[in-house]
Amino acid sequence: MNKDVFIYRIDSTDTIVSISDNWRTFADANAWGSSLRPEDVVGHTLWDFIQDLETQHLYQEVLRRARGGMPSRPIPFRCDSPSERRYLELLIEALPNGQIEITSKISRTEPRSPISLLNADTPRSSDFVTVCSMCKKMKVSPGQWAEIEEALVHLRLFEADKMPQLTHGLCHTCYQVAMGELDDFGTPNKDIDSDKE
Ligand SMILES: [Zn+2]
Repeated sequence: MNKDVFIYRIDSTDTIVSISDNWRTFADANAWGSSLRPEDVVGHTLWDFIQDLETQHLYQEVLRRARGGMPSRPIPFRCDSPSERRYLELLIEALPNGQIEITSKISRTEPRSPISLLNADTPRSSDFVTVCSMCKKMKVSPGQWAEIEEALVHLRLFEADKMPQLTHGLCHTCYQVAMGELDDFGTPNKDIDSDKE
């Protein structure tokens, strides 16, 4: 199977019932951790793997719509590594009996100068920054999100000895895109986005 496509299925209770054979390759490519084994995934609830509450809410809404028969469009998201921007699409397809097939497909990748903030081994301060779990933009002020490179400049973190810790959230743009209220994120690397509440 194509290493750029990863497919899994959940049942009507959101329990993961199958994962595609290329699991290991995809998990490694996306730095999900070498200790994660298929048996740690199959039989577990999807919600063990989506910990941020806002992102959970987004997925719950998308799954609810799919099970209700609404056709869904591909949802763009990012799964970056320290040295690569990775653009993916999430496809949600309803199957009989409340099952859902979820496909993650890598559309393209772009190399970049390594970002120590995204490296798990980087020393951390006691500060926290919030990264959108879908587009990987960083919150720079209430309601404002920027590409990590811009955010590091904006928050004067390029010179810092230690990087802040990461927490995840969801920007308003991603919520709107997933709900079909916007066509796309717009162009990558565009200037700081403001949430329009
Ligand atoms: Zn976002």
